[in-house]
Amino acid sequence: MPPDNVAEFRFYAELNDFLSPEQRQQTMRYRFSGHPAIKDPIEAFGVPHTEVELIIVNGQAVKFNYRLQAGDRVAVYPVFKRLNIGPLLRLREKISPEPRFVLDVNLGKLARFMRLLGFDSLYRNDYQDAAIVKIAVSEQRIVLTRDRRLLHAKQIQHGYWVRAIDAGSQIDEVIHRFDLCRLIHPFARCLVCNGVLASVDKTSILDQLEPKTKRYYQAFRQCVNCQRIYWEGSHLENMRRRFAGLLTRERTDPSEIDMTQASNE
Ligand SMILES: [Zn+2]
Repeated sequence: MPPDNVAEFRFYAELNDFLSPEQRQQTMRYRFSGHPAIKDPIEAFGVPHTEVELIIVNGQAVKFNYRLQAGDRVAVYPVFKRLNIGPLLRLREKISPEPRFVLDVNLGKLARFMRLLGFDSLYRNDYQDAAIVKIAVSEQRIVLTRDRRLLHAKQIQHGYWVRAIDAGSQIDEVIHRFDLCRLIHPFARCLVCNGVLASVDKTSILDQLEPKTKRYYQAFRQCVNCQRIYWEGSHLENMRRRFAGLLTRERTDPSEIDMTQASNE
């Protein structure tokens, strides 16, 4: 029996990124039979549930389990940072005040940038999709991916389809999307393994330093996980240059930016 019910769907703002060109900014008719949960047609249009922040049906906010009815007019909205929606309308738990991430295999460079800025970011170049979903659920991590299909996995609470190809633009995108500016904490994570960096006494690592490093640098940090050593000159200057804009906005707490000060705490 052919589907006999019709509902109207419209997607707003960057949710249009997921639609085919002829569908963008259009009100679309959706044919269906029975009463599917509204999450199904939304994903049938190609929009991952993790990108949706608010669903309005006939003027009322609904949740993902709302059963679609014939004649429904559906408006689907992405995350609007300046729109603080009430708890009753919220489709999912709020993001933790200290968000943690897991990145797909395409995002190795972004993972390094994320760690550079202090964000707990798991990444391996051999992660399978199933492993990413499992980690996201068990460790309550936000999934960052270039593969939008991955975000259709039901179990994922928080995720984001990274649009940009270039890692520099990707980090800007992620910081903006999850409002991370105020959480930037440079030199807190190992770029290689995501371990936490702890201040280390120069005398205790002298034998591991190159002569020039020994001569010119005083403040050091060491990864508690893989024991790699970091110092102000090698990474911090590059990072300062790259993220000058972001860091300027965050000048309210200079102790988080000044590596020397941080290591003397
Ligand atoms: Zn490490």
